[in-house]
Amino acid sequence: MSQKIPSAGAAQALPGHPFVAYHGTSLQVESVSLSQLAAEHGTPLFVYSKASMLAALGAYQRGFAGRHAQICYAMKANSSLGVLQVFAAAGCGFDIVSGGELERVLAAGGDAAKIIFSGVGKTRAEMRQALQAGIGCFNVESEAELDVLSQVAESLGLRAPVSIRVNPNVDPKTHPYISTGLKDNKFGVAHEDTLRIYQHAASLKGLQVVGIDCHIGSQITEATPYLDAMDRVLDLVASIEAAGMALAHIDFGGGLGINYNNDAPPAADALWAQLLRKLDERGYGQKKLMIEPGRSLVGNAGVCVTEVLYVKPGEHKNFCIIDAAMNDLPRPAMYQAFHAIVPLLAESAATPEARYDVVGPICESGDWIGRDRSLAVKAGDQLAVLSAGAYCMSMSSNYNTRGRAVELLVDGAKVHVIRERESAADQMRLERLVTL
Ligand SMILES: *Cc1c(COP(=O)(O)O)cnc(C)c1O
Repeated sequence: MSQKIPSAGAAQALPGHPFVAYHGTSLQVESVSLSQLAAEHGTPLFVYSKASMLAALGAYQRGFAGRHAQICYAMKANSSLGVLQVFAAAGCGFDIVSGGELERVLAAGGDAAKIIFSGVGKTRAEMRQALQAGIGCFNVESEAELDVLSQVAESLGLRAPVSIRVNPNVDPKTHPYISTGLKDNKFGVAHEDTLRIYQHAASLKGLQVVGIDCHIGSQITEATPYLDAMDRVLDLVASIEAAGMALAHIDFGGGLGINYNNDAPPAADALWAQLLRKLDERGYGQKKLMIEPGRSLVGNAGVCVTEVLYVKPGEHKNFCIIDAAMNDLPRPAMYQAFHAIVPLLAESAATPEARYDVVGPICESGDWIGRDRSLAVKAGDQLAVLSAGAYCMSMSSNYNTRGRAVELLVDGAKVHVIRERESAADQMRLERLVTL
């Protein structure tokens, strides 16, 4: 696909990226030129817009205006401390999936009482750590986990607040690796077992049942799966409460998609207007509501800036070899995901356009970032890989002993370094040479 470059003079935001725009021929995040940032900090380089994150959060906050609601940022989407600080300062809670993530939230100044702990494989040590920190709720994913959590809480003389993740068995119509609410997924408990498992939870001395939750998948671009899941969850709420167990909150998970490639997900406030209508109709509009958005809060707030190292023509394919790779941007290799790729400088016709596979330097054929893209590029040019705020840095690795990239947070004209470039020495720090 080819990217339309606006005419000089006009500032025009890129599709889905309200705070990334060409000003004249130069691509900016908020008021800062990406070429300047690349010159100063080198590439590959992640740049995030604070205003974009707050605007995305604002859409949810508008959607829930006047309701008793708590937004918990699903931090696995991007767990960098500087990003967490933005959400903590805005009053967000956090959805965590490990003890490491708990430590990050606390280091970023997040409120422990607004933390919910998801995931199918919590260890006893992680349960203890979270209980001692005083988190708001454990989202439990199996009956066996309930028993272990109750034991751990009792051993500390505490009661663990719990919600049980139910599997509504609706198809979110997304990539199979990121759909989580179908019968055969490892997540949650089956609809038909839910009431019995709630009764079991209520009988355990170390637990206090406080809610119910679900999460049906990720990159969801339609309202229907949410509406269907809500119906299924509310049926369960009715039967659980009829059996005498009061539920203080209902948590509808995350999963709202973003625009990667002409995707048109509903806006968070419009989606929630629809969902709240259903909740009200069914008489649950006054309950405490929780949600766990990740991607939709950060995905299109970030870009990854990279430099073209080589252009390599081939018989059937041309390759554009860049200095970012699957260790920085794992989604194409993992999910065959699409990220738009645009030039930092919208040049006039000096370089001819051609079709390229955009690939990284890693020694794997899976190390591609974009396939069959129309680009006018030569060695030394810089490109921005879009939609790089979610599930990129947080999934990054050191494969091929590549250091993690620099991360910058842009706030208007201000630039904060939130992660320095990782050196080889950083990577080797925990390793030990042996005497052979
Ligand atoms: C990953 C995850 C989320 C966030 O999903 P997004 O698609 O990033 O919004 C929310 N809840 C749970 C339990 C998750 O595993």
